[in-house]
Amino acid sequence: MNLVLSDHPAAEWQEVTPRTACRQCGKGSWCARSEAGWEMCMRVPGGIERVNKNGEVYWLTAPHGSNAAASPPEFQPAPGAPLADPDDLNLVYKLVLDKLCLSQEHRQALQKRGFTDEQMESIGFRSFGPKDLPGLAKTVAETFPDVWQRVPGLYLKDGRPALCITFGLLIPCRDARSKIVGLRVRLDDQTEGSRYRWVSSKNHNGPSCGALASVWRPESAPDLTTIRLTEGECKAGVAADLTGIITVCAPGIGQFTSPLVRSIIAQLTAELTQHSQVDVCLLLAPDSDAMTNPQVHLAVLRALECYPAAKVEVWPVEHKGIDDALVVGADVRAVSSAEYRERLIASERTEVVALGQAQHLLEHALVH
Ligand SMILES: [Zn+2]
Repeated sequence: MNLVLSDHPAAEWQEVTPRTACRQCGKGSWCARSEAGWEMCMRVPGGIERVNKNGEVYWLTAPHGSNAAASPPEFQPAPGAPLADPDDLNLVYKLVLDKLCLSQEHRQALQKRGFTDEQMESIGFRSFGPKDLPGLAKTVAETFPDVWQRVPGLYLKDGRPALCITFGLLIPCRDARSKIVGLRVRLDDQTEGSRYRWVSSKNHNGPSCGALASVWRPESAPDLTTIRLTEGECKAGVAADLTGIITVCAPGIGQFTSPLVRSIIAQLTAELTQHSQVDVCLLLAPDSDAMTNPQVHLAVLRALECYPAAKVEVWPVEHKGIDDALVVGADVRAVSSAEYRERLIASERTEVVALGQAQHLLEHALVH
């Protein structure tokens, strides 16, 4: 097998597209493939586990038919432009959002998902379309002359500041200190296959988005005894508000155990413990397809190993996400990891359990 490292390792890896989707998760973005055929998946556990500089976990699988024990090429993303610090990102993104409005169409879509007008305003949802382009980049650059080129979404085009934000619903993503550190877009044009995209300047030699996990706090005083971990920004926002529980949004179920997510949970746990003096309970809220999808199920099992005291929230399987279940008032319960495994077996999805366990054992063998 030819696995000679080139002088420019980053050039060996290409991000997947809808046409060259990832073999591991089937999605057409975020994951990558090397020239030699190695697959790097950000979503689904399997193969060799590594951590990137953002604190995200990823999994490498060998080229089809090759020796799985061989070393993969180094994955080193292109260095890119430096990223502004969270306080500066927060100031710039707040200005951008202040200059935009929320369209009636997006407002109605958010209402359907369970958001009230007050929540939409305090979260800061906005719409971005063609009419918003003129002048906005110039205003931002003039207000923050020393910082703007380090903010994903802005770049220098023909000597002038320009925006590279795809048209759609802008979702501000906050860190554990409630600073807006990233913008997620729900695309208006979803013909390319992916519905969401991070605002980034990496295609224009600017900074790519930084930390991709976000923290969603309820409007009212939060429950000081509990933290929830789920995936999906809107889902996390709705769940936080309807339950009063601070909710962490991981950028995919495979990232539940990433160093980035673990550090956010540790920060929030320290914050809540200061006020409540009781042990903080972690709730995992994977989509209900964990019961039927072996890959999702495997990721939940890994998360339970990483957070042994965590409980898993369950609800009737006809509702996919916890937000769907909460919005219609379905019965949502937190069960222990032991009970969760029993429920899985009782669902008669034995092939899911067996496949999950087999993959788990295989990975254990690879790691140790
Ligand atoms: Zn993938």
